Amino acid sequence: MAKVMNVDFARSGNLPLMLALKTALGEDLHYCEFYNHCHKVGCSDDKCNFQKNHDFNLDLDIPQGWKHVITLRRNRRDSLEAWFKTDLNKPFLDKLFGYRIVDNKQRYIEMRKRFQEKWEEKWLNSNGVIIYYEDFLVNLLDATLFVANLIKPGTLVKYSYNKKELDALTERLTRQQIYMRNIYD
Ligand SMILES: [Zn+2]
Repeated sequence: MAKVMNVDFARSGNLPLMLALKTALGEDLHYCEFYNHCHKVGCSDDKCNFQKNHDFNLDLDIPQGWKHVITLRRNRRDSLEAWFKTDLNKPFLDKLFGYRIVDNKQRYIEMRKRFQEKWEEKWLNSNGVIIYYEDFLVNLLDATLFVANLIKPGTLVKYSYNKKELDALTERLTRQQIYMRNIYD
């Protein structure tokens, strides 16, 4: 079993990818949500084989022996809009900046855009596999099969999800798409 780091640009599909992997790998998936678990690159749990990291500080180095996949949106505008919407109610950001940065959307977007450019420059030039969010939504099973096989070669993705699993996954993806539509309609 190999270890895979998901370097995910915020709001770019880490959660649905993880849920799909869970369906494919079952108990073989040991996921770490860096920010809500150990805050340790490579995880404090030796069993961990899939960790998420947004690389907010642009200082992430992929640990020895880990592979990495990069998830991001091809459409940069959608990406920043989605991130903005997520940040609307995050009091820690107000503390961090000393004012409500989301009250000035233009300034917020400019700041995130500078970060986005640096992030893409770093990760699009790394040797990780790139999965675009838009492709992931359309080719869910292919993307899942691919990443599951990085972790555990020989994994066959179930094409017959049970109804509960499929409903949960579909609902989550549909909700995201509806949300994306709301922004621009
Ligand atoms: Zn961890």
